[in-house]
Amino acid sequence: MKVLLTGGTGYIGSHTAVVLSQLGHEVVLYDNLSNSRDAVLKTLAKITGRHFPLVRGDVRDTELLRNALASYGIDTVIHFAGLKAVGESVVKPIDYYANNVQGTISLLQAMQAQQVKTLVFSSSATVYGQPQYLPLDENHPTGATNPYGRSKLHIEEMLSDAASSDADWRIASLRYFNPVGAHESGLIGENPNGAPSNLMPYIAQVAAGQRSELRIFGNDYPTPDGTGVRDYIHVMDLAEGHAAALKFLNQASGWHAINLGTGKGCSVLEMVCAFKKASNRQVPYRVDTRRIGDVAACYANPTKAAELLNWKAKRTVDEMCASTWQFQQTVEIE
Ligand code: NAD
Ligand code: UDP
Repeated sequence: MKVLLTGGTGYIGSHTAVVLSQLGHEVVLYDNLSNSRDAVLKTLAKITGRHFPLVRGDVRDTELLRNALASYGIDTVIHFAGLKAVGESVVKPIDYYANNVQGTISLLQAMQAQQVKTLVFSSSATVYGQPQYLPLDENHPTGATNPYGRSKLHIEEMLSDAASSDADWRIASLRYFNPVGAHESGLIGENPNGAPSNLMPYIAQVAAGQRSELRIFGNDYPTPDGTGVRDYIHVMDLAEGHAAALKFLNQASGWHAINLGTGKGCSVLEMVCAFKKASNRQVPYRVDTRRIGDVAACYANPTKAAELLNWKAKRTVDEMCASTWQFQQTVEIE
């Protein structure tokens, strides 16, 4: 297949590019480099031995997207491009709706104009809001609690409406749980600008000595050790989930919401412990107050993905920590 990855130079996009290319798909990247760098192209070539064309542009530029779809003969799009920081979305909601919602409208218009109607969308477990039961299956009520989550929810509704209006659309909304880890080469991974807001990159920087300590946001949750529980999923498992979704969409029309998670919860303290083991470094921490908006526990029921995509996450938390640590050391050398 000829696949366009919007946001393809970013964290999840770059790992997916590796997996798809190794499966024989032709991959074209489309990115405005607002949260990534084109240096990743050289790294991707080093890992795969292949060259990835990059169209540098914004997804809100419908004409540029149309041209990219036409000139590369694209038949499928994976839409990673978007802004993703929950806290920032509360401060800059208009930017989030413009980038995420308007960006997706522009993409759908370009795809419709070019008669490209197979789409995989990067959604998030955040669309479930406060869990009413666990594990979260796809029938759990949706109701996001912040502008980022609401942008994902609005997009899912648009995608579902588009698929209802025209049976040619084949759309999968993949609801990611907590992607972490890095490619086994240690050459690509998550390298956030400024202080990380997510747990795993923060722990990695503390282990590396770049930050003095981790603040654990609450140890009085109704969880086994009192700290927050999440479903961390290795980014390479997630990337393979996209390849499985492409295969599924070959024989399924309509709109499908599918969880990509492991089904297993891991607490903050368990993650700290696993990272200490993987890095052989200390991870000093102190317990702080709860972070506003956090839920106690969130993990997936991954049954639908197993049934529809014939896909299961297989990498362990130890592997997630080991690959993150390997990548962290590469970043330090740079
Ligand atoms: P990322 O920031 O590393 O990658 C996103 C890429 O999109 C970046 O390269 C950025 O430059 C690009 N981009 C942003 N706005 C753009 C625009 N308007 N036009 C063109 N390019 C644009 O993030 P990621 O972690 O790889 O996330 C990819 C997708 O997955 C996002 O949509 C995110 O919301 C979703 N997601 C991520 C997580 C996570 O924890 N990483 C969890 C759930 C869902
Ligand atoms: N967390 C923490 N300290 C940090 C960052 C996160 O204790 O510096 C906790 C957070 O409260 C949550 C878990 O780690 O319980 C995962 O947080 P993250 O932001 O990575 O993911 P999300 O909350 O969006 O699922």
